[in-house]
Amino acid sequence: MYSSNQGYPRMGQDREWKRTLEQFWKKEMSEEEFSARMKKLKSIHVKKQADAGIHIVPAGDFTYYDQMLDTAFMFNLIPERHKSDHPLSLGSYFSMARGSDDAHACAMKKWFDTNYHYVVPEWEEDYEPRLNFNKPLEDYLEAKEAAECKPVIIGPYTFIILSKGCHSLKEAADKLLPLYIQCFRELKEHGAELVQVDEPAFVYEGLEEDLHVIFSIYEAFAEAVPDLKLLIQTYFEAPEAYEKLTALPVSGWGLDFTKGNTIELLKTHGFPKDKILAAGIVDGRNIWRTNGAAALDLLYFLIHEVQPADLHIQPSCSLIHVPETAEGEDGLPEGLLENLAFAQEKLEEVVTLVNAENADAREKILQWSTSSQPEAGPSSKSLRRAQSFSERTRLQQRVFRLPELPLTTIGSLPQTKEVRRNRKSFKDGTITKDQYERFIQEETKRWINIQEELGMDVLVHGEFERNDMVEYFGENLDGFAFTRKGWVQSYGSRGVKPPVIYDDVQWRGPITRDLTLYAQSLTEKPVKGMLTGPVTILNWSFAREDRFSESIAWSIAQALRKEVHALEEAGIRMIQIDEPAFREGLPLKASKQESYSRWAVNAFRASHYDVKAETQIHTHMCYSEFSEMLPVISEMDADVLSIEASKGGGELIRTFKDFQYDKSIGLGVYDIHSPRIPSVKEMEAVIRHCLEVLPAERFWINPDCGLKTRSEAEAVKSMENMAKAARIVRESL
Ligand code: GLN
Ligand code: ZN
Repeated sequence: MYSSNQGYPRMGQDREWKRTLEQFWKKEMSEEEFSARMKKLKSIHVKKQADAGIHIVPAGDFTYYDQMLDTAFMFNLIPERHKSDHPLSLGSYFSMARGSDDAHACAMKKWFDTNYHYVVPEWEEDYEPRLNFNKPLEDYLEAKEAAECKPVIIGPYTFIILSKGCHSLKEAADKLLPLYIQCFRELKEHGAELVQVDEPAFVYEGLEEDLHVIFSIYEAFAEAVPDLKLLIQTYFEAPEAYEKLTALPVSGWGLDFTKGNTIELLKTHGFPKDKILAAGIVDGRNIWRTNGAAALDLLYFLIHEVQPADLHIQPSCSLIHVPETAEGEDGLPEGLLENLAFAQEKLEEVVTLVNAENADAREKILQWSTSSQPEAGPSSKSLRRAQSFSERTRLQQRVFRLPELPLTTIGSLPQTKEVRRNRKSFKDGTITKDQYERFIQEETKRWINIQEELGMDVLVHGEFERNDMVEYFGENLDGFAFTRKGWVQSYGSRGVKPPVIYDDVQWRGPITRDLTLYAQSLTEKPVKGMLTGPVTILNWSFAREDRFSESIAWSIAQALRKEVHALEEAGIRMIQIDEPAFREGLPLKASKQESYSRWAVNAFRASHYDVKAETQIHTHMCYSEFSEMLPVISEMDADVLSIEASKGGGELIRTFKDFQYDKSIGLGVYDIHSPRIPSVKEMEAVIRHCLEVLPAERFWINPDCGLKTRSEAEAVKSMENMAKAARIVRESL
């Protein structure tokens, strides 16, 4: 048996990777130094895995930003707008990722059901990809000095399915095939024997229709590079069409045994005798120790199915979804640390499992066992507001008297160096609570003025007191624990530090009331209260596994409802309950989606169902892919839903119209993820586009997400342009 890994966290234990990137972007570091530092980090990651005892270390998973972007760049899928005189420069690469002055960034999307965002490859009209360089090979050559390793590459099917702009799978596959073959040939020539080809899209229902293309792809590979072993890696669910798929002419399969019915598939259909099985036994998505007894059972079963020499034991997916190590986490509640396993600890588990024939190892494994089967908790009910949207909106309009196309923002305002420095000083104890709170108030006040000057109609307090929208609520509710360094990459250099839900969630007392009231005291305009919704809090935390998700979400909703009432009683009349991670929890298989949608909607509504009709409930989601989710989102019954509209344009709003979505929509008219300042013209165009589909009274105007990551100058200028665009359109109504 071999121990193996699919991918290692990128951030670095002290977020060195993030800092290197950001320094380079700020031009505080030369390109040479940047490359040298990154190379060093890459080799440290390889070494850490080898030192942990991993037999087969991945090479090629390391990136400057994202693995899909790397693959697109390697295949020369560089949109015209990002090309410079040196199209293969880091300038073009980061322009695709982050946008530049005259080119908007490529779209970002969530990677399957995770909170990781990948850069969406764009196929421009008649585009002919070519192989610019061979990234897996370069990384392989670097890594193989230090460890036994396997190059990893995103497989053609997944790459194409997640791209945009290609006419058909077949056509795109025909164009990419020779490039993959060249890549594989070079790898083989340089000594690689086994390549991990990631095909997570094989878990999507609907695969059946594409099987003939998939077969032609992998048959072509088998013919062109017959002596290179390709191991197709799937994760996050069991693959579709298992029986047919496993007949592909490849050398092995990587399967996720922690999700879906993978085990049943093997029990029913067996595993092809002559192939390698890379068994994902250690959950790469959670932070808990593996249930040792269950893992041993599974291992015994697999040993019967597969020759030990063909069995690789590994985490269920790349470890980019968990923090690097639990070592040094000494600030946790009693008893919690022993139950945690981050990337390094997961690799140790993998190595111990591989040694399970040894009695000491077995004993150790049995001690991991902590989590039991989920217990049912409070079950969710379907509660809703007493009045329909149309009754509510009439009453609300009487209270607020807003102009057409009201202007607002999504909540957070720039978290400048100063804001972060003050928070740090407060945490370190170098300034007092009083000083810190005074600073937050001053910042809030300054920004209330800025928003008024900019002509916003509904203001926000700015969320300066929040490091993170989930962490903040976790810190102020019972049942959450916080790690010191539990960072996980969200997109590019941005990381999140998810809280750990380890106990029952309870409300201790008002969390946001005082600061919201303070902001409201400074202005005549309404200030929106700002909360993170129950589904998002759950989906962006590492939750315990011995409770059903639905009952955890329900108990968070009960706690938030108390906060909603505290705000309402204090006189706050608009409350936004953000659910940017609502869709993220949606199971990958359609057959499992209905039950998720039901409890998630119930939890969201339970957080506020009994507010007054006049209290306006907003929610926010950061994305524009709505077609499949609209019926569910409509059931959430929020008065105003803000979404990303600049990318989808009028087309997106058409989906709302077709579905007869009947509530208000906040149009996110520009992309806040890019430092680029959007022009008045382009935002005006987005608004006009939407107005061709639905009337003005249905729309609000806002950026597509919170502004915390932007500089003050960027935020002010963009909001100024946004307000101008809205006013121009208003005047023409
Ligand atoms: N209110 C939050 C903010 O503005 C929403 C963030 C999000 O949707 N991710 O930061
Ligand atoms: Zn958002």
